[in-house]
Amino acid sequence: MNMSVNVQDLSLLKEKYSELQSKLKHWSHKYYIENISEVEDAVYDAHLEELKALETEHPDLVEADSITKTIGSGVYQTSFTKTYHLEKMMSLDNAFGEEDIRDWENRINRIIGEETPREYVFELKIDGLSIALDYKNGKLYRAATRGNGKVGEDVTANLMTIKSLPKEIPLELLEKSDFSIRGEVYLPKEDFKKINAEREKEGLDLYANPRNTASGALRQLDPKITAARNLDAIFYNYFPYNNLGYAETEQVKSSSNSINEHFNSLEYLEKLGFHVNKEHNHLCKNIEEVISLYQEWQEKKDSLDFEIDGAVVKVNQLDLQKTLGETSKAPRWATALKFSAEEALTHVLSVDMEVGRTGAITPVANLEPVLLAGTTVKRATIHNFDQVDRLGVKVGDFVLVRKAGEIIPEIIKVDEAKRRQSVNGETIELVDVTRPGHCPVCGTALEQEDTILRCPNIVGCAAQIQRRIEHWASKKAMDIAGLGPAVVEQLLSEKLIKNPFDLYKLKFDDLAPLERMAEKSVNNLLAALEKSREIPFHRFLHALGIKHVGLNVSELIASVYPSLFELEKEVLGNHGVDLLKLDGLGEKILYSLKHFFESEIYVQVKRDYIDLGFDFKELVKRELSDKFAGMTFVITGTLSESRSYFEKIIKDNGGKVSSSVSKKTSYLLCGDDAGSKLTKAQDLGVEVLSEEKFREMV
Ligand code: NAD
Repeated sequence: MNMSVNVQDLSLLKEKYSELQSKLKHWSHKYYIENISEVEDAVYDAHLEELKALETEHPDLVEADSITKTIGSGVYQTSFTKTYHLEKMMSLDNAFGEEDIRDWENRINRIIGEETPREYVFELKIDGLSIALDYKNGKLYRAATRGNGKVGEDVTANLMTIKSLPKEIPLELLEKSDFSIRGEVYLPKEDFKKINAEREKEGLDLYANPRNTASGALRQLDPKITAARNLDAIFYNYFPYNNLGYAETEQVKSSSNSINEHFNSLEYLEKLGFHVNKEHNHLCKNIEEVISLYQEWQEKKDSLDFEIDGAVVKVNQLDLQKTLGETSKAPRWATALKFSAEEALTHVLSVDMEVGRTGAITPVANLEPVLLAGTTVKRATIHNFDQVDRLGVKVGDFVLVRKAGEIIPEIIKVDEAKRRQSVNGETIELVDVTRPGHCPVCGTALEQEDTILRCPNIVGCAAQIQRRIEHWASKKAMDIAGLGPAVVEQLLSEKLIKNPFDLYKLKFDDLAPLERMAEKSVNNLLAALEKSREIPFHRFLHALGIKHVGLNVSELIASVYPSLFELEKEVLGNHGVDLLKLDGLGEKILYSLKHFFESEIYVQVKRDYIDLGFDFKELVKRELSDKFAGMTFVITGTLSESRSYFEKIIKDNGGKVSSSVSKKTSYLLCGDDAGSKLTKAQDLGVEVLSEEKFREMV
């Protein structure tokens, strides 16, 4: 047990643990037994990942019947005849991105050794339900669902209705007359649409997705109903038997078979007439090939006529599979490669009002955790109250959340149809998100400014002060390592600071008594503060947090006005007349700068700036010329600086930048790993410049 966990933390952990177990068990029962998804797979997966992390960190909490160890729903209730599987039907571990795939290979390497030659088979992960088929003397003998992995349901009669499935195979084609195969039963997208269109005509509730519809159709007591659906199946595993039987003594697993690679077994199954998804199975020489196929399918996952919920990678050599073995739930020689969704549906649990560093009030939704783009998302912004009205979002709603790149997750849509449904038998109660009249932190009456509701208490609002200091310390501003939100909060609550400049007055003895501040952390923080005095002026300007003056605008301003007092003189003394001549700088920014230089805050900034002896470095002054006048550049590949850096140089010298290569392109500025733009430039005879050559030209 982790000794730092105290009794109160432990009881909270236990509570969290049981809450996750019971939620997941409930959803899993609905999914596997009743064929209903009460939540999106991404929500289920986020909870499962959280539970796994909790179990890894606190092994003492792990319960014997934990959902992390069960296959399928675990609890086994069925109206079908129960049947024992000859080979346990397993689940698969998940990899959620490139890093996880490499981790999987590292785990394998620890067992078989890095040097051991191996290949991998890349397959698509068909989103249906797994099935085990046994053939005796070449004839389909029994079909069973996975159930809990050991015991499944006998659905032979229903499987017989799948038209594409060979029910009897000529013995002369078989290397073993008795064998078992594993695969996935699914409903093609087109058939799913047809079924729902008919249900709509008949006024019946629509089915949620092809997977659950397929599962419902296969697990019907009346095979005629199954036959009416157009189910299909794809197979991905083969086990030969010398004598297949269901009593322990009868069953003899074949030890001598000519197939010793997984990929060959798929080819063999295909020859026998089984649908194996041949065109999408790949034999890969190394993990890089697997990763590149995974990335390719991430883009085109919706292009097939059936649904996939990822891919699967398997070690090809069967003897290596045997050496790698399995855990209680999944083989070590294979893993599912889950695609990272950028959008998913989840549930709004509550909405907080957050006060930003400029006083803007942002409604932020607390969500049922959901896995998006590889990370668990628990909160999403609704931006402002106009957006609340536009979306019509209420607490209790199901909403579509998007997380693209590094942008903060946002709510993009409300699922109105879900409002009419119920969760756990209860109708969802919806609560309006109302505009607050007063700042939730300092109580000041709020003011509306365009779309933004703002707390005007710039100097006194504790939330604004805290956010301003956090912004000051952030990477793109003063970059003070070790000064995260928790430390800022402590410094404020201990009344050690009131504004960012106070940070520079802190001494070792002020910081040492703080919680979680060991001697080393204190020294590191003091060193980081000292180092921050040396950053270029534009980063300091950005750190001041002036409205509309972000990093790019700061850089633009600093390239002409390289110190605080030169800028003050231009804004107040010259009314910003010359400042406005800068391309990309308008009245709104000038107004905001003017407001800042005339504010109470600036009086204090100026005093501290002088007292603390700040003197930030000048940016290299912008050299303007018309060297590139009339020329169009296209930039491609990886260069030593950002694309915007080179764009600026080109524009400063009178050139234009375009995003695509054409006959009109003068030069292609080309870095490493360039792709199709380079080929096109070469085809069109456009001159290609290396970064070095470009710098020489400048
Ligand atoms: P899994 O679906 O993650 O992986 C194992 C299964 O993959 C196998 O049993 C097999 O049926 C299937 N599969 C498909 N193509 C395959 C291939 N080419 N090779 C090998 N296997 C292949 O396993 P699981 O543990 O049954 O299910 C977890 C999944 O079900 C998760 O995606 C989870 O989100 C979803 N789920 C959702 C809910 C919900 O409420 N939304 C509840 C429970 C589970």
